[in-house]
Amino acid sequence: MGASLDAFFQPRSVAVIGASARHGSLGREILHNIIEYEFNGKLFPVNPRAEFIHSIKCYPSVLAIPDEVELAIVVVPARAVPDVVRECGQKGVKGIVVISAGFKETGAEGLAREQELMALVREHGMRLIGPNCMGIFATHPKVRLNATFAPVVPIEGDVAFMSQSGAMGVAILHALARMNVGLSFFASVGNKADVSGNDLLTYWEGDERTKVIALYLESFGNPRRFTRIAKRITRSKPIIVVKSGRTPAGARAATSHTGSLAGGEVAVDALLGQVGVIRAYSLEELLDFVAAFSRCPIPDGDRVAVLTNAGGPAIMATDALLAAGMQMAALATETQDDLRSFLRPEASVQNPVDMIASATAEDYRRALEVLLSDHGVDLVLVISVPPHMLVPDDVAGAITDVTRHHTKPVLSTFMAKEEFYETFPRLHPESPPLYRFPESAARAAAALHRYHRWQRRPAGVVRTFAVDRDQAARLTLGSLARGGGQMAQEDAFALLHAYGIPVATVRRVHDARAAVAAARTLGTPVVLKVADSRIVHKSDAGGVALDLRSAEEVEHAFLTMHERVREAHGFDPDGFVVQRQAPAGREVILGMAQDPLFGPLLMFGSGGRHVEVFKDIVFRVMPLTDVDAQEMIASIKGYPLLAGFRGEAPVDLSFTEELVLRLAQLVSDFDCIQEMDINPCILAPQRSDCLAVDVRIRLAAAAETAD
Ligand code: ADP
Ligand code: MG
Repeated sequence: MGASLDAFFQPRSVAVIGASARHGSLGREILHNIIEYEFNGKLFPVNPRAEFIHSIKCYPSVLAIPDEVELAIVVVPARAVPDVVRECGQKGVKGIVVISAGFKETGAEGLAREQELMALVREHGMRLIGPNCMGIFATHPKVRLNATFAPVVPIEGDVAFMSQSGAMGVAILHALARMNVGLSFFASVGNKADVSGNDLLTYWEGDERTKVIALYLESFGNPRRFTRIAKRITRSKPIIVVKSGRTPAGARAATSHTGSLAGGEVAVDALLGQVGVIRAYSLEELLDFVAAFSRCPIPDGDRVAVLTNAGGPAIMATDALLAAGMQMAALATETQDDLRSFLRPEASVQNPVDMIASATAEDYRRALEVLLSDHGVDLVLVISVPPHMLVPDDVAGAITDVTRHHTKPVLSTFMAKEEFYETFPRLHPESPPLYRFPESAARAAAALHRYHRWQRRPAGVVRTFAVDRDQAARLTLGSLARGGGQMAQEDAFALLHAYGIPVATVRRVHDARAAVAAARTLGTPVVLKVADSRIVHKSDAGGVALDLRSAEEVEHAFLTMHERVREAHGFDPDGFVVQRQAPAGREVILGMAQDPLFGPLLMFGSGGRHVEVFKDIVFRVMPLTDVDAQEMIASIKGYPLLAGFRGEAPVDLSFTEELVLRLAQLVSDFDCIQEMDINPCILAPQRSDCLAVDVRIRLAAAAETAD
């Protein structure tokens, strides 16, 4: 599978179909770029109206080429593409890059043309990149193929970059070239009719020269496959993603806490975080991160030393580092003594090490050497604000020298004249990444550390428990047979029970007498609640009465609740439930909402009636491992309350993890479940005291599960 992309990234022969001599035409730019970049293979321009282009023999069609052709770059008008591709198939071409636009992106006619194109590609066993893209390049010295029309000369390096947008691709290539960040491969994938981002990831995973993968995404074609692939690759190679465009999740009609909170980008964030992908939130950040990952080793920890010749930017850097979750290293006494031995007396030898404005390039060299040798320092952030006498190139040169024989990362911030940022990295390809501002360097440092943590994180396993799946199937099928939608409360409780999630027993009642009888069988104290699928938040209209301890209290509560609910909603409720009262504990919410693209999103958070106000919640996609579940629980703000705050006993955390995993098992077994809230699940120090007391489960409407 992966090997079939060799035709794109290491072809021995390339035809440019639609090559042209006309300046400004794409056919000319691509041909020109291939020649200019000195492609290590045979090149065949194809154009029926020219005998030669650029003094190279031109062929009227790909079929007229006497040699084998491995890769074809197609730049003819869209309507001519199918014929050209058919000929490529006959010729035995293996890979096709269709630059031409005028396909799916233009509407129905274009879509039909794209389908025709794909049928031909499949028929002939070819692979296709595009259509509607700006091409690909591969910088390996044995290949040197630049089949793009971008006015950028590729720099050889270790970053593989995929862009879903041609224009953004050009912009990013430009910026990377300015920073002298080299690439191994570039691919602009356009409409992704055949070769997808996932295919490229798999191919680049196996490429030894590629150390970093960067993606500009607008949409996910197959998020579940991405999850699998990315999780594997990020163990050995960092993947940095900038994602634009909203996922179409907001359109869901939410009838639960989880559903209303699951909109927007939470799925993307959850997915990327869960598979170790580093998300950049702007193009600038993408570039900053790519530079760091390409030019730095991965640090062993989060302890940063800051070395500077000015106070202000060091304070900014410190703030940004701490905000990003990094630590300021405590420098060893020997380190401080060493620094003091050659720095001015006014210099500060504590972290940040401020050598003051008189610092020389030599001071930078020696101080950096000392800091990198301190065992309590995991990485160094160097800041230089050039005063009159200091040439930034000298300082940067000194830093580069020292960095070369250390294995710890060094990031640098230079506040210098514009030309420095372009010339220096070109003259010193091994220099540490250069940033214009301390905050950018700090965030990039934090990204390096986050990746280190990911690499050290255990992979985790998807645990399954012995459950009563048959009973659960009976309950969901029964509910679906009655039309689906909101499950009756008793059924919802029974469904959780079948999956080993402890629930507070409920009895449905219709009058006060039955309520009193139910309370007697359950044992007081009990809780009385209105039970009507039209009422989403029961306590809003006085539909929950807690701590009822006697027959009189139950009867009184029933009568007043009945009255109040009827007044508030204007209808007689379907019924009420009497429920055992759970022992006091910590209220959490467990939930699930289906995302049309990403599948079930699981939610965990601080529970109760104010979930939407505090939004102390986290989401994860499936499959969910035990490590994922532990991280979910530990990452909410309310976690200290669960773990035991101010001498209180902690809740049973391992059981909490089990609850999350059991829920994951339930939703992965039954994809008819559309939305679910367990709010609250009351957690206690003893497993046997933990109880879900309020559950809402919405199944697909009967029509949605027709097939
Ligand atoms: P709703 O969310 O529809 O308003 P709930 O059933 O969640 O109704 O009840 C509201 C609150 O009442 C819960 O957050 C919880 O604090 C408390 N509560 C409800 N049922 C019980 C119970 N069985 N035991 C203890 N507390 C309960
Ligand atoms: Mg509730």
